[in-house]
Amino acid sequence: TGKLYLVPTPIGNLEDITIRAKKVLTNADYIAAEDTRTSGILLEKIGVHNRMISFHKYNSKERAPELIKLMQDGAVIAEISDAGMPVISDPGYILVQECIKHDIPVVPLPGPSAFATALIASGFDAQPFTYYGFLPRKASEQKPFFEQMNQARATSIFYEAPHRLVKTLKTMAQILPAERQIVAARELTKIHEEFIRGSVAELNDYFAQNAPRGEFVILVSPNTEAPKQLSWPELITLVDQLVAAG
Ligand code: SAM
Repeated sequence: TGKLYLVPTPIGNLEDITIRAKKVLTNADYIAAEDTRTSGILLEKIGVHNRMISFHKYNSKERAPELIKLMQDGAVIAEISDAGMPVISDPGYILVQECIKHDIPVVPLPGPSAFATALIASGFDAQPFTYYGFLPRKASEQKPFFEQMNQARATSIFYEAPHRLVKTLKTMAQILPAERQIVAARELTKIHEEFIRGSVAELNDYFAQNAPRGEFVILVSPNTEAPKQLSWPELITLVDQLVAAG
């Protein structure tokens, strides 16, 4: 049988394509791309010429069995999204699941993803962290997420569209204490890369003056005061110790 390669592509800077990614994209029988137009431009720029099949969230249910059939017949498929890692807030998950179900090897390539790129420069502890992807759009539906981030001992990371950022920060300010530290990582790897760091109140003021433009990753610092949540193994060890101690 064939196999499925999961291939990350640049999140801005074209030089972030890896040598291996380029090789896999060139040698695959097909490239399954979220948007064949966007990817066509990228592939052209990095000098990859290959066949593309469209595979996105609206056709993935029908397309997945067709791609599985191709791989069962020996095809090697390289899956890419518009930018960054497939599956990370992008399509791909269904195809990975189907490959596993059908015993087709899945080979992930390491490479750029916006959340990890933002996290390592945030200055917040990366262990543990929670990645939320995109939050719901409605303030009422976002609030429970901010409650959770408020209590979390982990760094919280989410993606937000520029035209929604001001409203989302206002909603955050209703839940998180004003002094809680936030980082807005903007236009990573691009010319206008920028890290806007400050409290919830400061970021609200900043973006009220400077309308958000470009792509954003938002990070919320961990709440080091929050009560420590025991994991199941820790909890079981504790119960065992208490029982042993009578
Ligand atoms: N698969 C991608 C990844 O691995 O990061 C994420 C795709 S998601 C549809 C697109 C969102 O990722 C954007 O709205 C933005 O929040 C974030 N993003 C992508 N590229 C970025 C960049 N260069 N700088 C900041 N955020 C970025």
